[in-house]
Amino acid sequence: MVAETNKYIVCNNCKQQNTYSLNLPIVISCNSCSSSFIVDETKSIVDLAAEPLKLNTVSVLNLQTKGISKGEPFELIGFIRSVNTLFISNEWLMYFESGKYLWLIESSFRYFVSDSKVIAMSSHAVKGIVPGRIVNINSKEYVLLEITKQIDFYFQGEIPVESYNDSSFFKYELVAKDESNFASVCIFSAAQIDASFSEKVQLEDLQLEQTNVFNDWK
Ligand SMILES: [Zn+2]
Repeated sequence: MVAETNKYIVCNNCKQQNTYSLNLPIVISCNSCSSSFIVDETKSIVDLAAEPLKLNTVSVLNLQTKGISKGEPFELIGFIRSVNTLFISNEWLMYFESGKYLWLIESSFRYFVSDSKVIAMSSHAVKGIVPGRIVNINSKEYVLLEITKQIDFYFQGEIPVESYNDSSFFKYELVAKDESNFASVCIFSAAQIDASFSEKVQLEDLQLEQTNVFNDWK
């Protein structure tokens, strides 16, 4: 990856220099002391009282893993662990050389690639809907599979500032009626409801390198 030479910040805590790839503003954790910071557009740094990752995060993926998606090389540079009432999802930020990024989501033995774009929804579209019912998102019909609530949140590496959501919020998981893709609806408040979309992916199709290898089960 060719990084611009001025794309680094100095950790407020340990003075370690940390390079970053995304456009500002971002949230980043120091690769030396794990302190977390918000870096705004002017490169000002605000300390974040984020808890360090404390859950066991056994995964074949890690922050150095590289791969290829639809012919374009990427590297995993950020990580979110979203603990929900029904499941835990690990979300890895796939950063492409062109500067675009997608999320690679590990959830219940399945993998999904999600767009970083979100669509704002009105509360009328999802209020009172129960699993099994149809929700219209972007003129397409989705079946509501489950309703969960995020109860814990951790991150590592670098992520866009809008992806840092450490509060508790409801999340609706849906599948398109024609099964062509999936949707997640995050209800941050009655006024802020965001839908995002993902497609199932087979890990072997991503030609991953530098994954974790488990040969010592301690
Ligand atoms: Zn540090």
